[in-house]
Amino acid sequence: MEGSPTLETLPRGGQVHVVGAGPVGLLLTALLQSMDEFSVRLYEKRREYTRTRMVQLAPYLVADSIESYRTDAIDGDSIQALFDPLELEQGLEFRQSMEADLTTLLHDWTLGFCPLNGIERSLSDLIDARGSNGLQRSATVISAEEAETMLEPGDVLIDCTGSSSLLRDRLMPESNATEQGANTFKIRLEYALVITFLYGETYDCNEYCKYYKNRDNARYKFIPMVHRTHYDGSVSHVTGIVNISAEEYEAMPPRFDGEWLRSNFPHVTESMDRFIDKIKQESNGELLGDPQIVRIPLDLYRARNATNRQWRAAGPTDHPFANSPVFLAGDSAIGSPYFQSISLGFECAMYLAGLLAQRDLPLRDMLDQYEVFMYKQWLRVYMRSKMIKHNKDLFESVDEPLALLDKLHIY
Ligand SMILES: Cc1cc2nc3c(=O)[nH]c(=O)nc-3n(C[C@H](O)[C@H](O)[C@H](O)COP(=O)(O)OP(=O)(O)OC[C@H]3O[C@@H](n4cnc5c(N)ncnc54)[C@H](O)[C@@H]3O)c2cc1C
Repeated sequence: MEGSPTLETLPRGGQVHVVGAGPVGLLLTALLQSMDEFSVRLYEKRREYTRTRMVQLAPYLVADSIESYRTDAIDGDSIQALFDPLELEQGLEFRQSMEADLTTLLHDWTLGFCPLNGIERSLSDLIDARGSNGLQRSATVISAEEAETMLEPGDVLIDCTGSSSLLRDRLMPESNATEQGANTFKIRLEYALVITFLYGETYDCNEYCKYYKNRDNARYKFIPMVHRTHYDGSVSHVTGIVNISAEEYEAMPPRFDGEWLRSNFPHVTESMDRFIDKIKQESNGELLGDPQIVRIPLDLYRARNATNRQWRAAGPTDHPFANSPVFLAGDSAIGSPYFQSISLGFECAMYLAGLLAQRDLPLRDMLDQYEVFMYKQWLRVYMRSKMIKHNKDLFESVDEPLALLDKLHIY
């Protein structure tokens, strides 16, 4: 309702600008596309989907009951503690109301690993196959200034540009931002090497490997990602991580092979080799090629504001962010190395599409409800990530009782 800032609703006829057509921007676009009242503009800077890394989606994405939504051992309790049953029911209802073409894809992706670009291409093709329905796609890089200026009154802007979000740190007016990046809260959990190798036999990886195959590794432990080991009938694809110090991280290039590691960090290589030797003793196979390694910081982060509510609260100005709703979705809003972030981003997209569809909902409530939802998602991610990091820290000391006891704060 015009004139009353508390009752103002989303006007009809405005455009929804979705910046970034990664998995989350694509799903959001597909959801809005099937709601007649929206005319969506989707912007993407990449011309092709080339990211081949294998990813897994969480089964809770296609859950049809609260019990099946809470199957993850750590996350399940957090869900129950953070969300009211009614909120969970509403989330499940939205899922069940989704178009069958999308639901079928989601079901397929929760069954096993799939390449990230397979998800992106399928969603992109689905959007194109449905016909325009008011949708325009632009292959272009959008700058933050362009994003601000293209926003007309009555439009909605959704930033799906991933972890280096285009707009996250512009969502606070300068007067409220005490420092650069003030809207990003980040915890650096650790630095790690992600090591991937191919092995010419089945490797029956399980939760006990991380202990038994590391028994002689005092400092560097190769921790296999149990659920990321995949045997394709002739070759096992194995991925694991090794914790490294900040100094070691600085001294390494972003990606390298086993030979480089052997020449420059022989102690890390020895640990990896010991682990692989134990696999060989079990199944008499051989390593195929050289391990491939990337070094990454493991960061847990969130946007303190996932909408433009601070701009609206700061009082009237001509700035576009003070006058039209802006949302962050997917990795631009929250990220964790130990949480299935695509699934989390898909949940953001579903929740946001459900909110935007409520045409009579006052804008202020829409922004507030999205903030509350994102905060609860953040708490969920934070708790699970800290728990996993803590478990990992305990594991690093498992053979040293005193070091282990130091980390066990019980009362
Ligand atoms: C090694 C690795 C393994 C992973 N494994 C998993 C896994 O198993 N399961 C899981 O759930 N997640 C996994 N992830 C995380 C997952 O890949 C991300 O969470 C997911 O890609 C985030 O989706 P998004 O759409 O939010 O952002 P992104 O995928 O980053 O997409 C952002 C899009 O925005 C576009 N863009 C950016 N800036 C602009 C601009 N200015 N103008 C126009 N377009 C722009 C980009 O080109 C991109 O297409 C993994 C990540 C890594 C690095």
